[in-house]
Formats: sequence, structure tokens, C-alpha cells
Amino acid sequence: MSTQVPRPRVWVSRPLFEDILDRLREYFDVEVEEDDHGWTREQMLQKLRDKTGAILGVADPVDASLIAQTPLLRAIANRGVGYNNLDIAALKKAGIIATNTPGVLDETTADFAWALMMATARRVTEAERWLRAGNWKGMSFHIMLGGDVYGKTLGIFGMGRIGQAIARRASGFRMPVIYHNRSRVAAEIEADCKARYVDRDGLLGEADFVVLTVPLSAETRHMIGAAELEAMKRDAYLINIARGGVVDDAALIVALREKRIAGAGLDVFEREPEVPDEMLALDNVVLTPHIGSASLATRRAMASLAVDNLIAALGHGPNAGRPPNAI
Ligand code: NAP
Repeated sequence: MSTQVPRPRVWVSRPLFEDILDRLREYFDVEVEEDDHGWTREQMLQKLRDKTGAILGVADPVDASLIAQTPLLRAIANRGVGYNNLDIAALKKAGIIATNTPGVLDETTADFAWALMMATARRVTEAERWLRAGNWKGMSFHIMLGGDVYGKTLGIFGMGRIGQAIARRASGFRMPVIYHNRSRVAAEIEADCKARYVDRDGLLGEADFVVLTVPLSAETRHMIGAAELEAMKRDAYLINIARGGVVDDAALIVALREKRIAGAGLDVFEREPEVPDEMLALDNVVLTPHIGSASLATRRAMASLAVDNLIAALGHGPNAGRPPNAI
């Protein structure tokens, strides 16, 4: 009589490419959610109580009290590069491996930062709304006058993987690049990106485009508030492809309404998927639903890396015990 050892159970909190999930099914019993929606802490606890591993979206919260009630849990693979949804200290203390997906989304997310810069300065979405509403009665010299991108100063807050990819694209637009980090990047990177280090105030005061690419942390929460928006040029644009919470949305609404800056391009929001009505009512802001890394190829690469990470973290596959992206 053969006794079968039960396989570890793994939860995938959001739908994922089925062919990529099949790789997980070689090792684990996999429970995959069919609907892509948010989870409360209570629901997460119900799902994770009997699981050894999980692949989570970057908005699925894991805190210390949840970890205390999920004794079987050994690994969490975040399906994204940001991991502000995870209490890393509590996970480490509990011996649970956490992983993310750095690197594979840099260029796609950098493309999107540029899409937002161009759309914001040249009023692309506002113009399309106006056209679709039937307002266009003939060529007019004076409609939708926007700002230039070419030749303007690009300021990057957070010169990491994505910030550098954004900076490298600036030479085609003949844009001087300035950046700020807590620490200066290596001279070779500065040369490759043709970027000059400035302090925080220098960046806010000099940049025509302030692009945010920092992780959300206690230190970066509300890094851009009323005072910082006031310090920007009146004809400058703010682009946030980092995380909601890095910008104080209430302060930004005031600055946009009072035209203290020219406009903003936002892919992320403090209480997403909720976007404040006051923001929806403004024309000088381009709003997108957290799609910075959303090309098909990149989302597949992210899913694949998350799966590789979980398989390895739970002791299987070619990297058994050595997940490529342990945090
Ligand atoms: P990364 O390589 O770690 O770069 C982050 C950069 O931010 C580093 O250069 C870091 O430099 C800087 N930084 C961190 N804390 C800072 C602070 N307090 N003040 C100033 N600079 C600070 O990360 P990445 O892969 O480029 O990703 C960045 C973030 O983008 C992610 O964490 C994620 O939240 C977001 N993201 C969003 C999307 C989207 O769909 N919208 C897609 C991908 C990523 P120092 O350590 O020297 O300060």
C-alpha cells in the first residue's frame, strides 16, 4: 500500500498566466483566484492559514499579526518590484522568505514614465476627451497649448534601476538630467545616464519634470507635500510612477487646482483604486490605473520570475533554497 505525502499548498492571490502557473503545479497544490480584486486582512488570513507559500500582488497586505497566525507559511513571492505591502522585518523574524521581481520591468516602466511625461505636457488625454465630446469644429491655432519636453530639465527622484532607465532615454530629447538619492550613484552610472547629482531642494527648484521612482517607505511617505510642490517651478510637471503615498494627494490637488505647478501625471494613488473626485475633476492631470509595468511581455516576465522565486524558496527546482530575488 503506497502512502502519498501531501504536497505543500500554495495560494496565488490574483489570476496569473495559466501556462506559467503550470510550473508551480509540478511541485505544489495550487489555489488560484479567478477574480482580480483586493483582499482584506481577514480574507488574507483565511486564505493563508493552511498554505506553505503564496504569490501576492503588490497591494495584498501582510503584517505581523497575520504572520503570527500563519504558522505553515514559509515563503511569499511578490509579483512586482515594490514590497511596501509586506512587513519584511516580521517576515524575517518568522523565518519566512520574501521575494520580489526587480530588473525585468525596468525598461517597460521607464517607457511608461515617458508616456506620462509626454501625455501630461502635451495634454494628450485632455485633448482626446475634448475631441470625443464633439468639441472639435476645425483646426484652431490656439487650442490645447501645452509645454515642451525637448530640451527641458529632467529631475529624477530615486536613481535606481527604473530611474536610470528613464534617464538614459533623455539624451534623444536633449534633456539635461539631474537626480537625487540618499547616496550618489557610481561615476560610471552618472556618465552612462549623463546625470548630475543634486540635493533635494536643487532637484525641486531646477527640474521641469520631477519624476518619482523611489520605493514607498516610512522615509518617503509624503516626500512630496505642499512645501515641495511650492518649491517646484510654476511651469513644471510632477510624474509619479513610484507608489501612492509618496505624494500627499490632498496637497497635490490644491497645487493643481491653484496652478502652482503646470500639471501632473499619476499612475499611483494614496488610496488606490480610489481616486479622489477633486482629482478626477481636474484637467491638468493625467490619471492611469497603476499600469507602469503593464506590457504583455513584461507582465509575463514578472509572473515567471515570481514563480521561479517561489519554487526555489520552497526548496525545489534548479535554484532550490536560493531564490533569485530574496529581499
Ligand atoms: P531601486 O532600484 O531600489 O531604486 C530606488 C531608488 O530610490 C534608489 O536609487 C534609492 O537610492 C532611492 N531612494 C530610496 N529611498 C530614498 C529616499 N528616502 N530619498 C531619496 N531617494 C531614495 O528600485 P526600482 O526597481 O527602480 O523601483 C522603484 C520603485 O518603483 C519600486 O519600489 C516600486 O514601488 C515602483 N514601481 C512602480 C511601478 C508601476 O507600475 N507604477 C512599476 C515598477 C516599480 P538610495 O538608497 O541611495 O536613496
